[in-house]
Amino acid sequence: MTVTGATRVGAVIGDPVAHSLSPTIHNAAFAATGFDATFVALPVRPADLGAAIAGVRALDLLGLSVTMPHKAAVISHLDDVRHEAAALSAVNCVVRDGGRLVGTNTDGAGFVDALTAASVDLVGTRVLVLGAGGAARAVVRALVDAGVAEVGVANRTTEKAEAAVLLGGRDARVAEVDDAPDYDVIVNATSVGMGVAAAAAVLPLPADRLRDGHVVVDLVYEPVETGLLAAARAVGAQAVDGVGMLVHQAAHAFTLWTGLPAPVAVMDGAAREALQPKT
Ligand code: NAP
Repeated sequence: MTVTGATRVGAVIGDPVAHSLSPTIHNAAFAATGFDATFVALPVRPADLGAAIAGVRALDLLGLSVTMPHKAAVISHLDDVRHEAAALSAVNCVVRDGGRLVGTNTDGAGFVDALTAASVDLVGTRVLVLGAGGAARAVVRALVDAGVAEVGVANRTTEKAEAAVLLGGRDARVAEVDDAPDYDVIVNATSVGMGVAAAAAVLPLPADRLRDGHVVVDLVYEPVETGLLAAARAVGAQAVDGVGMLVHQAAHAFTLWTGLPAPVAVMDGAAREALQPKT
């Protein structure tokens, strides 16, 4: 698309941020829909976060994606925070509402949409979440809202699992990775497997805990085919990769910024192309 004087600018802020796939995904969406905007990655040091948000106002940016380490700290610089982001104390998307900047969190909705797109019906299922960091917390909350019967949270650091369980209310409890066979869906929300080729990967749970009939979701998306997903396929389980959540959380942000339905297939294609191993 041609950049003109009327072209809007959206951005992802983080530190570091050069690795972010958000520009690839959102520019593909702008091109596909003809929405006159462009999307860039802006490195922002923690000490400069307040000035950066003032810049968003002054420059009338279309909207922001927010990544580490700013997801919690950005809240104090915004005019309002929607319920989901407030519960998680984490904002991954900033939208304009008139002259106000409002923080929201699209990770949980993106996770549920990715499973729906993979034909996984979560209602009434028992789900084991591995990990208790930012991604796991968003997933625990979204799972309970999606009507699962139970959420187990297994984490290396038990105190963090206990804190994540509080987000799930009475349907959530602390669990162990060894409990995996008792669950219907296993979600890896740890960073175990990130940046490691599938063949060399350490798994976030022993492979013999996986069984035919499991749905195994890996939030790690680089590599797309992780060691966990390969192990899941090997026992006949359904494997769902992390690109779906990445794309669907971005799709929610796109719609919030533009008011348009997101071209999800185009966004998915752009992300998968960017994630192809370089030869
Ligand atoms: P985070 O807040 O740093 O949490 C990391 C989690 O991984 C913690 O629970 C941590 O356990 C656990 N962990 C790290 N190393 C471990 C190890 N060696 N053994 C066992 N557990 C380990 O990170 P996050 O933001 O939640 O992200 C987690 C993963 O999800 C990352 O790979 C990220 O790329 C991915 N992610 C994907 C999407 C998507 O759209 N697909 C979205 C968000 C995140 P402790 O609490 O014990 O330290």
